[in-house]
Amino acid sequence: MRYIISKIKLTKPLVLLLGWMCLFGSPISFSQTRQSPTQEKPRVDLLYRSLQPGEALLVVLRGLSSIRQAEMKFQNQKYHLLPRSEGSDEWFGWLGLDFQMKPGDYPLRVTVIDSLGNKHQLQVTLTVKPKTFPVKKLWVAPRYVTPPPEVTERIRRESTLLRTIFSLESTQWRGEGKFILPCQGKIFFNFGEKRIYNNQPRSSHSGIDIAAVTGTPVVASNAGQVVLATELYFAGNTVIIDHGLGLFTFYGHLSAIKVKRGDFVHRGQLIGLVGATGRVTGPHLHWSVRLKGSRVDPLSLLEISLDKDSGSS
Ligand SMILES: [Zn+2]
Repeated sequence: MRYIISKIKLTKPLVLLLGWMCLFGSPISFSQTRQSPTQEKPRVDLLYRSLQPGEALLVVLRGLSSIRQAEMKFQNQKYHLLPRSEGSDEWFGWLGLDFQMKPGDYPLRVTVIDSLGNKHQLQVTLTVKPKTFPVKKLWVAPRYVTPPPEVTERIRRESTLLRTIFSLESTQWRGEGKFILPCQGKIFFNFGEKRIYNNQPRSSHSGIDIAAVTGTPVVASNAGQVVLATELYFAGNTVIIDHGLGLFTFYGHLSAIKVKRGDFVHRGQLIGLVGATGRVTGPHLHWSVRLKGSRVDPLSLLEISLDKDSGSS
């Protein structure tokens, strides 16, 4: 540049043009050559227990110091990513592999806009391995297997309500560190179990059960906002917490509810007591997780560290 300048007669308009270029860049657009000043390369790290149906995944974006916006696309759904903390150059988002998803290769596309407006696109292939879920026979009151006609409308209304809640995505993260077990008791590793009630096949079990005596405290697995605190036909007294980014935890069959809809709860805060309300065989907590509508094993969440110093998988 110095060589060129020395050969050019520095007329007043040229000096003004060079001054403009120093201050604001070239007046001519070179959009194809615009790059981050440090030539940074973003990368995607995945944290998970296993790459199988019914698992939660934490997607961490690293390697770019100035992210303005980031989102990912998986199976035709868009997911938001957020900075781990204010001003952090590590961004994260949640992904759920529904328990009925078929094994195979699935692309995960991440789009990042840096502070200069440059678009970075990354693609990771998730190889989802097969998983078989057990079959279980259970015996419950007949009205929970073939509900009487007078409750048909109620069941339909409640299933619409749940679908609506799980379709919402708050674009902020309310969680405080790792998820915790919400109740002390005997854990049944029965996520995804195909259920046969009174010899009739019914939907699969989309959560886990923790057996405990009636009245055992149930706490919030992580911080969030209570979006449902009411009695449902199948799940009995139920609390649902919205943790943000499309992640919800569900607590069913409670004997008592200790929070109201709209409340903000901390991780570990009392939200209810173990009970036997709804379709049950005895007192227990039914605990489940929805991640952008995908049904994932809550125990897969407990294994993912959200701490700042967590490494990549
Ligand atoms: Zn259950």
